[in-house]
Amino acid sequence: MHDIVVLGGGPGGYAVAFRAAARGLDVALVEEDKVGGTCLHRGCIPSKAILHVAEVLEEVERSEVMGLKLSFDGLDGDGLSAFREGVINGLHKGLDHLANTRATVHRGRGRVVKGDDGLAVEVTDADGQTTTVAGKNVVVATGSSPKSLPGLEVDGEVVQTSDQALWFTTAPERAVVIGAGAIGMEFASMWRPMGTEVTVVEALDRVLPLEDADASKALAKSYRRRGIDVLTSARVQGVTVDGGTATVDVEVDGDARVLEADLVLVAVGRGPNTADIGAQELGVLDDRGFVITDDFGATEVDGLWAVGDVRPTLALAHAAFAEGQVVADRIAGVDHVSPVDHVQTPRVTYCHPEVASVGLTEAEAREQHGDDVVVSTASMKANAKGIIAGSDGFVKVISLGGEAPVGAVGDGGPVVGVHIVGPHATDLIAEATLATSWEAVPAELAAITHAHPTLYEAMGEAFQSAAGLPFHGH
Ligand code: NAD
Repeated sequence: MHDIVVLGGGPGGYAVAFRAAARGLDVALVEEDKVGGTCLHRGCIPSKAILHVAEVLEEVERSEVMGLKLSFDGLDGDGLSAFREGVINGLHKGLDHLANTRATVHRGRGRVVKGDDGLAVEVTDADGQTTTVAGKNVVVATGSSPKSLPGLEVDGEVVQTSDQALWFTTAPERAVVIGAGAIGMEFASMWRPMGTEVTVVEALDRVLPLEDADASKALAKSYRRRGIDVLTSARVQGVTVDGGTATVDVEVDGDARVLEADLVLVAVGRGPNTADIGAQELGVLDDRGFVITDDFGATEVDGLWAVGDVRPTLALAHAAFAEGQVVADRIAGVDHVSPVDHVQTPRVTYCHPEVASVGLTEAEAREQHGDDVVVSTASMKANAKGIIAGSDGFVKVISLGGEAPVGAVGDGGPVVGVHIVGPHATDLIAEATLATSWEAVPAELAAITHAHPTLYEAMGEAFQSAAGLPFHGH
Protein backbone atom coordinates (compact mmCIF):
# COMPACT_ATOMS: atom_id res chain seq x y z
CA MET A 1 0.00 0.00 0.00
CA HIS A 2 1.71 3.19 -1.23
CA ASP A 3 0.91 6.60 0.23
CA ILE A 4 0.22 7.80 -3.32
CA VAL A 5 -0.22 6.12 -6.69
CA VAL A 6 0.09 8.61 -9.53
CA LEU A 7 -1.50 7.73 -12.86
CA GLY A 8 0.45 9.51 -15.60
CA GLY A 9 4.09 10.62 -15.68
CA GLY A 10 3.83 14.01 -17.41
CA PRO A 11 4.67 17.30 -15.68
CA GLY A 12 1.60 17.10 -13.40
CA GLY A 13 2.15 13.48 -12.40
CA TYR A 14 5.87 13.64 -11.83
CA ALA A 15 5.47 16.90 -9.88
CA VAL A 16 3.19 15.03 -7.46
CA ALA A 17 5.70 12.18 -7.20
CA PHE A 18 8.76 14.38 -6.72
CA ARG A 19 7.16 16.68 -4.14
CA ALA A 20 5.66 13.70 -2.29
CA ALA A 21 9.08 12.01 -2.18
CA ALA A 22 10.59 15.25 -0.86
CA ARG A 23 7.94 15.14 1.89
CA GLY A 24 8.97 11.59 2.80
CA LEU A 25 5.97 9.80 1.28
CA ASP A 26 6.06 6.47 -0.53
CA VAL A 27 4.99 6.95 -4.16
CA ALA A 28 4.26 4.73 -7.16
CA LEU A 29 4.11 6.24 -10.65
CA VAL A 30 2.24 4.51 -13.46
CA GLU A 31 3.20 5.47 -17.03
CA GLU A 32 2.34 3.67 -20.26
CA ASP A 33 4.86 5.51 -22.41
CA LYS A 34 7.79 7.64 -21.22
CA VAL A 35 8.12 9.82 -18.15
CA GLY A 36 7.92 13.45 -19.29
CA GLY A 37 4.53 13.31 -21.02
CA THR A 38 3.32 15.56 -23.81
CA CYS A 39 5.51 18.47 -22.71
CA LEU A 40 8.81 16.66 -23.11
CA HIS A 41 8.00 14.16 -25.87
CA ARG A 42 5.53 15.91 -28.20
CA GLY A 43 4.91 19.43 -26.98
CA CYS A 44 6.78 22.23 -25.25
CA ILE A 45 10.31 20.91 -25.60
CA PRO A 46 10.51 19.71 -29.23
CA SER A 47 8.55 22.79 -30.36
CA LYS A 48 10.94 25.10 -28.53
CA ALA A 49 13.91 23.33 -30.14
CA ILE A 50 12.47 23.99 -33.61
CA LEU A 51 11.44 27.52 -32.69
CA HIS A 52 15.05 28.15 -31.77
CA VAL A 53 16.06 26.99 -35.25
CA ALA A 54 13.46 29.36 -36.71
CA GLU A 55 14.84 32.20 -34.59
CA VAL A 56 18.33 31.58 -36.02
CA LEU A 57 16.83 31.75 -39.51
CA GLU A 58 15.13 35.05 -38.66
CA GLU A 59 18.57 36.38 -37.73
CA VAL A 60 20.02 35.10 -41.01
CA GLU A 61 17.24 36.96 -42.84
CA ARG A 62 18.16 40.26 -41.26
CA SER A 63 21.91 39.59 -41.26
CA GLU A 64 22.50 42.20 -43.95
CA VAL A 65 21.50 45.03 -41.60
CA MET A 66 24.25 43.83 -39.29
CA GLY A 67 26.82 43.86 -42.09
CA LEU A 68 26.84 40.10 -42.47
CA LYS A 69 26.54 38.10 -45.64
CA LEU A 70 24.67 35.00 -44.50
CA SER A 71 22.23 32.92 -46.46
CA PHE A 72 19.93 30.00 -45.75
CA ASP A 73 20.68 27.09 -48.07
CA GLY A 74 17.98 24.76 -46.83
CA LEU A 75 17.24 22.36 -44.01
CA ASP A 76 19.34 19.32 -43.25
CA GLY A 77 16.51 17.02 -42.13
CA ASP A 78 18.80 14.55 -40.36
CA GLY A 79 20.58 17.35 -38.53
CA LEU A 80 17.27 18.93 -37.52
CA SER A 81 16.02 15.59 -36.18
CA ALA A 82 19.25 14.95 -34.31
CA PHE A 83 19.06 18.38 -32.67
CA ARG A 84 15.37 18.07 -31.73
CA GLU A 85 15.58 14.46 -30.56
CA GLY A 86 18.92 15.12 -28.83
CA VAL A 87 17.31 17.78 -26.64
CA ILE A 88 14.41 15.46 -25.77
CA ASN A 89 16.58 12.41 -25.10
CA GLY A 90 19.05 14.29 -22.90
CA LEU A 91 16.26 15.67 -20.74
CA HIS A 92 14.43 12.34 -20.67
CA LYS A 93 17.48 10.45 -19.44
CA GLY A 94 17.82 12.74 -16.43
CA LEU A 95 14.11 12.79 -15.71
CA ASP A 96 13.73 9.02 -15.95
CA HIS A 97 16.58 8.59 -13.49
CA LEU A 98 14.96 11.02 -11.06
CA ALA A 99 11.60 9.25 -11.39
CA ASN A 100 13.15 5.86 -10.67
CA THR A 101 14.97 7.13 -7.59
CA ARG A 102 11.93 8.91 -6.17
CA ALA A 103 9.09 6.53 -7.01
CA THR A 104 8.36 2.93 -7.86
CA VAL A 105 7.69 3.24 -11.58
CA HIS A 106 5.20 0.81 -13.15
CA ARG A 107 5.19 0.61 -16.96
CA GLY A 108 1.77 0.01 -18.46
CA ARG A 109 -1.69 1.40 -18.95
CA GLY A 110 -3.47 2.22 -15.72
CA ARG A 111 -7.07 2.31 -14.68
CA VAL A 112 -8.39 3.56 -11.35
CA VAL A 113 -10.50 1.07 -9.42
CA LYS A 114 -12.26 1.31 -6.08
CA GLY A 115 -12.77 -1.84 -4.09
CA ASP A 116 -13.55 -2.74 -0.49
CA ASP A 117 -9.92 -2.04 0.42
CA GLY A 118 -9.99 1.45 -1.09
CA LEU A 119 -8.42 2.87 -4.22
CA ALA A 120 -5.91 1.22 -6.54
CA VAL A 121 -4.61 1.44 -10.08
CA GLU A 122 -4.79 -1.68 -12.26
CA VAL A 123 -1.77 -1.63 -14.55
CA THR A 124 -1.73 -3.65 -17.77
CA ASP A 125 1.74 -3.95 -19.29
CA ALA A 126 2.74 -4.46 -22.93
CA ASP A 127 2.42 -8.27 -22.52
CA GLY A 128 -1.14 -7.96 -21.25
CA GLN A 129 -0.17 -8.80 -17.64
CA THR A 130 -2.21 -6.92 -15.04
CA THR A 131 -0.87 -5.81 -11.65
CA THR A 132 -2.85 -4.00 -8.98
CA VAL A 133 -1.02 -1.12 -7.32
CA ALA A 134 -2.85 0.02 -4.20
CA GLY A 135 -2.57 3.48 -2.66
CA LYS A 136 -4.08 5.43 0.20
CA ASN A 137 -4.37 8.16 -2.44
CA VAL A 138 -4.59 8.03 -6.22
CA VAL A 139 -3.81 11.06 -8.39
CA VAL A 140 -5.12 11.19 -11.96
CA ALA A 141 -2.60 12.98 -14.19
CA THR A 142 -3.30 11.52 -17.62
CA GLY A 143 -3.05 14.80 -19.55
CA SER A 144 -4.75 15.81 -22.78
CA SER A 145 -4.78 15.14 -26.53
CA PRO A 146 -5.33 17.38 -29.55
CA LYS A 147 -8.95 17.89 -30.58
CA SER A 148 -10.18 18.05 -34.16
CA LEU A 149 -13.21 19.60 -35.82
CA PRO A 150 -16.42 17.68 -36.48
CA GLY A 151 -16.11 15.85 -39.81
CA LEU A 152 -12.40 16.64 -40.19
CA GLU A 153 -10.30 13.51 -40.39
CA VAL A 154 -6.74 13.85 -39.14
CA ASP A 155 -4.90 11.48 -41.50
CA GLY A 156 -1.47 12.24 -40.03
CA GLU A 157 -0.20 13.05 -43.53
CA VAL A 158 -1.87 16.07 -45.10
CA VAL A 159 -4.05 16.86 -42.09
CA GLN A 160 -2.05 16.76 -38.88
CA THR A 161 -2.19 17.81 -35.26
CA SER A 162 0.86 18.93 -33.28
CA ASP A 163 1.45 15.26 -32.37
CA GLN A 164 2.55 14.59 -35.96
CA ALA A 165 3.56 18.03 -37.22
CA LEU A 166 6.49 18.41 -34.82
CA TRP A 167 8.54 15.74 -36.55
CA PHE A 168 9.02 17.33 -39.98
CA THR A 169 12.38 17.08 -41.73
CA THR A 170 11.37 19.35 -44.60
CA ALA A 171 9.08 22.30 -44.05
CA PRO A 172 5.78 22.22 -45.99
CA GLU A 173 5.52 24.50 -49.01
CA ARG A 174 2.06 25.75 -48.12
CA ALA A 175 0.47 25.30 -44.71
CA VAL A 176 -2.94 26.24 -43.39
CA VAL A 177 -3.05 26.50 -39.62
CA ILE A 178 -6.54 26.18 -38.13
CA GLY A 179 -6.66 27.97 -34.78
CA ALA A 180 -4.60 30.95 -33.61
CA GLY A 181 -4.02 29.78 -30.04
CA ALA A 182 -0.52 29.10 -28.71
CA ILE A 183 0.01 25.99 -30.85
CA GLY A 184 -1.18 27.54 -34.11
CA MET A 185 0.83 30.73 -33.61
CA GLU A 186 4.00 28.84 -32.65
CA PHE A 187 3.83 26.56 -35.72
CA ALA A 188 3.19 29.53 -38.04
CA SER A 189 6.25 31.18 -36.55
CA MET A 190 8.50 28.15 -36.99
CA TRP A 191 7.50 27.40 -40.58
CA ARG A 192 7.57 30.92 -42.06
CA PRO A 193 11.37 31.47 -41.94
CA MET A 194 11.84 27.97 -43.37
CA GLY A 195 10.10 29.18 -46.54
CA THR A 196 6.57 27.95 -45.92
CA GLU A 197 3.64 30.04 -47.18
CA VAL A 198 1.50 30.09 -44.04
CA THR A 199 -2.15 31.06 -43.60
CA VAL A 200 -3.61 31.15 -40.09
CA VAL A 201 -7.38 30.75 -39.82
CA GLU A 202 -8.95 31.83 -36.52
CA ALA A 203 -12.67 31.67 -35.76
CA LEU A 204 -12.63 34.50 -33.22
CA ASP A 205 -11.88 38.11 -34.12
CA ARG A 206 -8.24 38.06 -32.99
CA VAL A 207 -5.17 35.86 -32.62
CA LEU A 208 -4.26 34.56 -29.14
CA PRO A 209 -7.82 35.47 -28.04
CA LEU A 210 -7.11 34.87 -24.35
CA GLU A 211 -4.36 37.50 -24.30
CA ASP A 212 -4.79 41.25 -23.89
CA ALA A 213 -6.34 42.77 -27.04
CA ASP A 214 -3.25 44.97 -27.59
CA ALA A 215 -1.00 41.89 -27.61
CA SER A 216 -3.26 40.20 -30.18
CA LYS A 217 -3.22 43.32 -32.34
CA ALA A 218 0.56 43.73 -32.22
CA LEU A 219 1.14 40.07 -32.96
CA ALA A 220 -1.24 39.96 -35.94
CA LYS A 221 0.43 43.11 -37.34
CA SER A 222 3.88 41.59 -36.92
CA TYR A 223 2.82 38.30 -38.56
CA ARG A 224 1.31 40.12 -41.55
CA ARG A 225 4.48 42.18 -41.91
CA ARG A 226 6.48 38.94 -41.93
CA GLY A 227 4.31 37.62 -44.75
CA ILE A 228 2.02 35.30 -42.77
CA ASP A 229 -1.57 35.53 -43.91
CA VAL A 230 -3.74 35.93 -40.80
CA LEU A 231 -7.48 35.46 -41.26
CA THR A 232 -9.62 36.27 -38.22
CA SER A 233 -13.40 35.89 -37.81
CA ALA A 234 -12.80 33.03 -40.23
CA ARG A 235 -14.63 29.73 -40.05
CA VAL A 236 -13.42 26.56 -41.70
CA GLN A 237 -16.34 25.09 -43.65
CA GLY A 238 -14.61 21.94 -44.78
CA VAL A 239 -11.32 20.34 -45.77
CA THR A 240 -10.94 17.93 -48.69
CA VAL A 241 -7.76 16.06 -49.44
CA ASP A 242 -6.86 14.89 -52.92
CA GLY A 243 -3.51 13.62 -54.13
CA GLY A 244 -1.52 15.05 -51.22
CA THR A 245 -3.13 18.50 -51.44
CA ALA A 246 -5.77 19.89 -49.13
CA THR A 247 -8.45 22.34 -50.17
CA VAL A 248 -9.71 24.33 -47.22
CA ASP A 249 -13.02 26.17 -47.56
CA VAL A 250 -13.16 29.15 -45.28
CA GLU A 251 -15.76 31.80 -44.61
CA VAL A 252 -14.15 35.11 -43.67
CA ASP A 253 -16.55 37.79 -42.46
CA GLY A 254 -19.26 36.25 -44.63
CA ASP A 255 -17.09 35.88 -47.77
CA ALA A 256 -16.04 32.48 -49.09
CA ARG A 257 -12.29 31.82 -49.53
CA VAL A 258 -10.61 28.69 -50.83
CA LEU A 259 -7.11 27.89 -49.60
CA GLU A 260 -4.81 25.17 -50.89
CA ALA A 261 -2.17 23.56 -48.73
CA ASP A 262 0.25 20.66 -48.56
CA LEU A 263 -0.29 20.52 -44.84
CA VAL A 264 -3.23 21.49 -42.65
CA LEU A 265 -2.43 21.84 -38.97
CA VAL A 266 -5.45 21.41 -36.72
CA ALA A 267 -4.72 23.46 -33.59
CA VAL A 268 -8.20 24.03 -32.16
CA GLY A 269 -7.50 23.06 -28.56
CA ARG A 270 -6.88 19.95 -26.49
CA GLY A 271 -9.27 17.67 -24.61
CA PRO A 272 -8.69 15.66 -21.40
CA ASN A 273 -7.49 12.02 -21.55
CA THR A 274 -10.10 10.60 -19.22
CA ALA A 275 -11.77 7.88 -21.32
CA ASP A 276 -11.14 4.31 -20.11
CA ILE A 277 -9.21 5.23 -16.98
CA GLY A 278 -11.98 4.40 -14.52
CA ALA A 279 -12.85 8.04 -13.78
CA GLN A 280 -16.26 7.84 -15.47
CA GLU A 281 -17.26 4.89 -13.28
CA LEU A 282 -16.28 6.84 -10.16
CA GLY A 283 -18.55 9.72 -11.21
CA VAL A 284 -15.90 12.44 -11.11
CA LEU A 285 -16.12 13.73 -14.71
CA ASP A 286 -18.04 16.74 -16.01
CA ASP A 287 -19.91 16.62 -19.33
CA ARG A 288 -16.74 17.62 -21.26
CA GLY A 289 -14.70 14.83 -19.67
CA PHE A 290 -12.69 16.98 -17.24
CA VAL A 291 -12.17 15.73 -13.70
CA ILE A 292 -14.16 17.79 -11.22
CA THR A 293 -12.08 18.82 -8.20
CA ASP A 294 -11.97 21.48 -5.54
CA ASP A 295 -9.30 24.22 -5.72
CA PHE A 296 -6.75 21.84 -4.15
CA GLY A 297 -7.28 19.05 -6.70
CA ALA A 298 -9.43 16.79 -4.46
CA THR A 299 -12.38 15.00 -6.07
CA GLU A 300 -15.52 13.99 -4.20
CA VAL A 301 -14.16 10.44 -3.92
CA ASP A 302 -12.12 10.18 -0.75
CA GLY A 303 -8.40 9.82 -1.62
CA LEU A 304 -8.87 10.53 -5.35
CA TRP A 305 -7.17 13.66 -6.73
CA ALA A 306 -6.39 15.14 -10.14
CA VAL A 307 -3.78 17.52 -11.58
CA GLY A 308 -2.85 19.04 -14.92
CA ASP A 309 -4.73 19.02 -18.22
CA VAL A 310 -7.44 16.63 -16.94
CA ARG A 311 -8.69 19.57 -14.88
CA PRO A 312 -10.45 22.49 -16.61
CA THR A 313 -7.71 24.90 -15.51
CA LEU A 314 -4.85 26.31 -17.65
CA ALA A 315 -3.42 23.55 -19.89
CA LEU A 316 0.18 24.56 -19.22
CA ALA A 317 3.08 22.43 -17.97
CA HIS A 318 3.95 24.91 -15.22
CA ALA A 319 0.32 25.03 -14.05
CA ALA A 320 0.47 21.22 -13.84
CA PHE A 321 3.75 21.41 -11.85
CA ALA A 322 2.12 23.82 -9.41
CA GLU A 323 -1.08 21.76 -9.09
CA GLY A 324 0.97 18.60 -8.53
CA GLN A 325 2.99 20.18 -5.74
CA VAL A 326 -0.19 21.43 -4.03
CA VAL A 327 -1.78 17.97 -4.15
CA ALA A 328 1.34 16.30 -2.73
CA ASP A 329 1.54 18.90 0.05
CA ARG A 330 -2.13 18.41 0.92
CA ILE A 331 -1.71 14.65 1.07
CA ALA A 332 1.42 15.08 3.21
CA GLY A 333 -0.66 17.16 5.64
CA VAL A 334 1.46 20.30 5.26
CA ASP A 335 0.02 23.32 7.10
CA HIS A 336 -1.17 26.37 5.17
CA VAL A 337 -1.16 25.03 1.60
CA SER A 338 -2.60 27.60 -0.79
CA PRO A 339 -4.34 26.53 -3.98
CA VAL A 340 -2.66 27.44 -7.27
CA ASP A 341 -3.57 30.98 -8.25
CA HIS A 342 -4.29 30.56 -11.95
CA VAL A 343 -4.62 34.31 -12.49
CA GLN A 344 -1.04 34.71 -11.24
CA THR A 345 0.20 31.86 -13.44
CA PRO A 346 2.27 33.32 -16.29
CA ARG A 347 1.17 32.61 -19.87
CA VAL A 348 3.98 32.33 -22.39
CA THR A 349 3.78 31.90 -26.16
CA TYR A 350 7.03 31.31 -28.02
CA CYS A 351 6.00 32.84 -31.32
CA HIS A 352 8.05 35.60 -32.95
CA PRO A 353 7.76 38.12 -31.37
CA GLU A 354 7.17 36.35 -28.08
CA VAL A 355 4.05 37.08 -26.04
CA ALA A 356 3.85 36.71 -22.27
CA SER A 357 1.44 37.87 -19.62
CA VAL A 358 0.41 37.51 -16.01
CA GLY A 359 -2.63 38.70 -14.09
CA LEU A 360 -5.61 40.46 -15.64
CA THR A 361 -6.00 41.73 -19.19
CA GLU A 362 -7.11 45.34 -19.53
CA ALA A 363 -10.65 44.19 -20.40
CA GLU A 364 -10.80 41.89 -17.34
CA ALA A 365 -9.42 44.64 -15.09
CA ARG A 366 -12.03 47.12 -16.37
CA GLU A 367 -14.78 44.55 -15.88
CA GLN A 368 -13.69 43.95 -12.28
CA HIS A 369 -12.57 47.44 -11.28
CA GLY A 370 -14.42 49.82 -13.60
CA ASP A 371 -12.75 53.22 -14.08
CA ASP A 372 -10.22 52.52 -11.35
CA VAL A 373 -7.80 51.06 -13.92
CA VAL A 374 -4.56 52.73 -14.98
CA VAL A 375 -2.82 51.54 -18.17
CA SER A 376 0.86 52.37 -18.71
CA THR A 377 3.06 51.20 -21.57
CA ALA A 378 6.72 51.26 -22.54
CA SER A 379 7.68 50.64 -26.14
CA MET A 380 10.46 48.24 -27.08
CA LYS A 381 11.09 50.54 -30.05
CA ALA A 382 12.92 52.91 -27.73
CA ASN A 383 14.77 50.10 -25.93
CA ALA A 384 18.39 49.79 -27.04
CA LYS A 385 18.56 45.99 -26.74
CA GLY A 386 15.18 45.74 -28.49
CA ILE A 387 16.47 47.85 -31.39
CA ILE A 388 19.64 45.73 -31.63
CA ALA A 389 17.50 42.56 -31.59
CA GLY A 390 15.52 44.06 -34.48
CA SER A 391 12.21 43.55 -32.81
CA ASP A 392 9.65 45.99 -31.55
CA GLY A 393 6.93 45.35 -29.02
CA PHE A 394 5.83 46.73 -25.69
CA VAL A 395 5.36 46.24 -21.98
CA LYS A 396 1.87 47.11 -20.79
CA VAL A 397 1.26 47.47 -17.06
CA ILE A 398 -2.25 47.49 -15.64
CA SER A 399 -2.55 48.92 -12.15
CA LEU A 400 -5.34 50.21 -9.99
CA GLY A 401 -5.85 53.81 -9.02
CA GLY A 402 -7.01 54.99 -5.62
CA GLU A 403 -5.28 54.68 -2.31
CA ALA A 404 -2.03 52.75 -1.87
CA PRO A 405 -2.45 49.65 0.32
CA VAL A 406 -1.45 50.05 3.97
CA GLY A 407 2.34 50.04 4.26
CA ALA A 408 2.95 50.72 0.56
CA VAL A 409 4.59 53.89 -0.67
CA GLY A 410 3.26 56.50 -3.11
CA ASP A 411 -0.19 56.84 -4.60
CA GLY A 412 -2.19 54.23 -6.41
CA GLY A 413 -3.09 50.59 -5.96
CA PRO A 414 -1.29 47.41 -6.97
CA VAL A 415 -0.21 46.18 -10.36
CA VAL A 416 -2.85 43.62 -11.42
CA GLY A 417 -1.64 42.66 -14.88
CA VAL A 418 1.43 42.84 -17.14
CA HIS A 419 1.52 42.07 -20.88
CA ILE A 420 4.69 41.85 -22.91
CA VAL A 421 5.21 41.47 -26.65
CA GLY A 422 8.79 41.35 -27.86
CA PRO A 423 12.12 39.56 -27.69
CA HIS A 424 12.50 37.26 -24.67
CA ALA A 425 9.04 38.22 -23.38
CA THR A 426 8.74 34.67 -21.98
CA ASP A 427 11.74 35.36 -19.70
CA LEU A 428 10.93 39.00 -18.97
CA ILE A 429 7.59 37.97 -17.47
CA ALA A 430 9.47 36.72 -14.37
CA GLU A 431 9.69 40.19 -12.80
CA ALA A 432 6.07 40.90 -13.65
CA THR A 433 4.99 37.67 -11.93
CA LEU A 434 6.69 38.78 -8.73
CA ALA A 435 5.06 42.22 -9.01
CA THR A 436 1.50 40.97 -9.49
CA SER A 437 1.82 38.06 -7.03
CA TRP A 438 3.08 40.36 -4.30
CA GLU A 439 0.53 43.05 -5.21
CA ALA A 440 3.37 45.55 -5.51
CA VAL A 441 2.45 49.17 -6.28
CA PRO A 442 4.08 51.12 -9.14
CA ALA A 443 5.92 53.55 -6.84
CA GLU A 444 7.76 50.65 -5.16
CA LEU A 445 8.57 49.01 -8.48
CA ALA A 446 9.66 52.31 -10.04
CA ALA A 447 12.30 52.69 -7.32
CA ILE A 448 14.00 49.39 -8.24
CA THR A 449 17.11 49.91 -10.37
CA HIS A 450 16.97 48.15 -13.73
CA ALA A 451 20.28 47.49 -15.47
CA HIS A 452 21.03 49.39 -18.68
CA PRO A 453 21.10 48.45 -21.48
CA THR A 454 18.76 45.48 -21.03
CA LEU A 455 15.44 44.36 -22.41
CA TYR A 456 13.99 44.30 -18.91
CA GLU A 457 14.56 47.99 -18.38
CA ALA A 458 11.42 48.35 -20.54
CA MET A 459 9.62 46.88 -17.52
CA GLY A 460 11.20 49.52 -15.26
CA GLU A 461 10.13 52.24 -17.71
CA ALA A 462 6.54 50.95 -17.68
CA PHE A 463 6.52 50.84 -13.87
CA GLN A 464 7.87 54.40 -13.75
CA SER A 465 5.12 55.56 -16.12
CA ALA A 466 2.56 53.76 -13.95
CA ALA A 467 3.94 55.67 -10.93
CA GLY A 468 3.40 58.95 -12.81
CA LEU A 469 7.16 59.36 -13.33
CA PRO A 470 7.80 58.55 -17.00
CA PHE A 471 11.52 58.48 -17.82
CA HIS A 472 12.10 58.10 -21.57
CA GLY A 473 8.45 57.26 -22.22
CA HIS A 474 5.18 59.09 -21.74
P1 NAD B 1 -6.28 27.01 -27.82
O1 NAD B 1 -7.56 26.65 -27.21
O2 NAD B 1 -5.32 27.87 -27.07
O3 NAD B 1 -6.53 27.73 -29.23
C1 NAD B 1 -7.35 27.16 -30.21
C2 NAD B 1 -7.85 28.26 -31.12
O4 NAD B 1 -8.57 27.65 -32.16
C3 NAD B 1 -8.78 29.23 -30.43
O5 NAD B 1 -8.30 30.54 -30.64
C4 NAD B 1 -10.11 28.98 -31.12
O6 NAD B 1 -10.90 30.14 -31.23
C5 NAD B 1 -9.67 28.46 -32.48
N1 NAD B 1 -10.68 27.64 -33.16
C6 NAD B 1 -11.49 26.70 -32.63
N2 NAD B 1 -12.26 26.16 -33.59
C7 NAD B 1 -11.95 26.79 -34.75
C8 NAD B 1 -12.40 26.68 -36.09
N3 NAD B 1 -13.36 25.83 -36.44
N4 NAD B 1 -11.84 27.46 -37.05
C9 NAD B 1 -10.86 28.35 -36.71
N5 NAD B 1 -10.40 28.49 -35.46
C10 NAD B 1 -10.93 27.72 -34.49
O7 NAD B 1 -5.62 25.61 -28.23
P2 NAD B 1 -4.20 25.19 -28.82
O8 NAD B 1 -3.46 26.34 -29.42
O9 NAD B 1 -4.52 24.02 -29.66
O10 NAD B 1 -3.41 24.74 -27.53
C11 NAD B 1 -3.94 23.72 -26.66
C12 NAD B 1 -3.55 23.96 -25.23
O11 NAD B 1 -2.15 23.81 -25.08
C13 NAD B 1 -3.90 25.37 -24.78
O12 NAD B 1 -4.42 25.34 -23.50
C14 NAD B 1 -2.58 26.07 -24.83
O13 NAD B 1 -2.49 27.14 -23.89
C15 NAD B 1 -1.59 24.96 -24.49
N6 NAD B 1 -0.30 25.27 -25.10
C16 NAD B 1 0.47 26.22 -24.53
C17 NAD B 1 1.66 26.58 -25.11
C18 NAD B 1 2.48 27.63 -24.46
O14 NAD B 1 2.18 28.01 -23.35
N7 NAD B 1 3.50 28.16 -25.11
C19 NAD B 1 2.07 25.99 -26.29
C20 NAD B 1 1.26 25.04 -26.86
C21 NAD B 1 0.07 24.69 -26.26
